[in-house]
Amino acid sequence: MALTLSNKGLAVKPSSTLAITAKAKELKAEGKDVVGFGAGEPDFNTPENICKAATQAIETGFTKYTAAAGTPELRKAVSEKFARVNGLRYAPEQCVISNGGKHALTNIFQAILNPGDEVIIPAPFWLSYPEIVKLADGVPVIVRCTAEQGYKITPEQLAAACNEKTKAFVLNSPSNPTGMVYSREELEALARVIVEKDIFVVSDEIYEYLAYDGIEVVSIGSLGEDILAHTITCNGMAKGYAMTGWRVGYTGAPLAVAKVMSSIQSHQTSNPNSIAQAASLEALNGSQESVGVMKEEFDKRRKYMFERISAMPYVKTLLPKGAFYVFVDVSEVLGKNHKGTEISDVSVLAKILIEEYLTAVVPCADFGFADHVRLSYAISMEQIEKGLNRIEEFLKNLQ
Ligand SMILES: *Cc1c(COP(=O)(O)O)cnc(C)c1O
Repeated sequence: MALTLSNKGLAVKPSSTLAITAKAKELKAEGKDVVGFGAGEPDFNTPENICKAATQAIETGFTKYTAAAGTPELRKAVSEKFARVNGLRYAPEQCVISNGGKHALTNIFQAILNPGDEVIIPAPFWLSYPEIVKLADGVPVIVRCTAEQGYKITPEQLAAACNEKTKAFVLNSPSNPTGMVYSREELEALARVIVEKDIFVVSDEIYEYLAYDGIEVVSIGSLGEDILAHTITCNGMAKGYAMTGWRVGYTGAPLAVAKVMSSIQSHQTSNPNSIAQAASLEALNGSQESVGVMKEEFDKRRKYMFERISAMPYVKTLLPKGAFYVFVDVSEVLGKNHKGTEISDVSVLAKILIEEYLTAVVPCADFGFADHVRLSYAISMEQIEKGLNRIEEFLKNLQ
């Protein structure tokens, strides 16, 4: 045997959102005045009450291994939060704490997939879903959802994509990258298909606190006993509590799934960081005031971004209802010329914007939509204004 690497490992695409952020950071380090619309994390600091709980955990020696699936206190807090906020009934034994939402998703697919099992992923999708599914030996089945349907999958599309190999369907509402949110009626219709086809739904609700205009965020598992038995709810501390670096995610799942996830985790990573778990307990049980403060600020930026982009030539966007992204259709830009360079695809567009306009946007080919870019508004209003001015100038320079 030569020193070859695993086919599975070699097949993984590195995360392009992280690559864009890295490029922006590199230019910034060179002293360039870069505007980064690539950010996939809140620009706020973790609220003080949460940080204090962590310091206290260190000072009181809460620095040892915990149970692999998380501390009993945090699993109980998660169970209560599911009931209180989401109307979801998961007992503490059905709740598993993991090293971030991404790791929770990894555990889920490792727990439910056998080689060749299919997982339906509506596009546009968060770019990690297909890679996580493939790493668990599953086969992603991508279903394209157009702007006309609000980038949301219809029950007809879901039913048509199902066959005897289908194991699960991935739902993400509010959505990264589109900012769209499924209504209660839409979820009820999807739930009927899920129950009828007898597949799992993996509901990624990490942006649940970021929904605007008073819109309701519904957890699909709250819609009844039947659908709850098919639902694995995935969530985490990162987005709602500005805790991306702490790495704590959590799930609620049918007991059999939760048990297998815990076993897998017990060998792969053991428990999530004990200090971060103590902080997460405070995040869930303590004051929720900071959540509202962050949301209000995001909302102002969202409205401004939408107004400005809607007034620009060659680009189209829908008003985002949740999360902190604007998903922009740039299909009319593709094929145009910028100072002698043909914008042949969306990565060329992103390259010109970062190199010549010092503005980072995320090209969405890896999100399943090669004629769209994603702009995050998890940056200051001042930066947003500057960056949008630059994008406007770029668009004016097109021929
Ligand atoms: C950020 C994000 C996650 C999870 O992130 P973690 O940092 O791993 O907790 C999960 N799903 C989506 C759609 C996200 O944007």
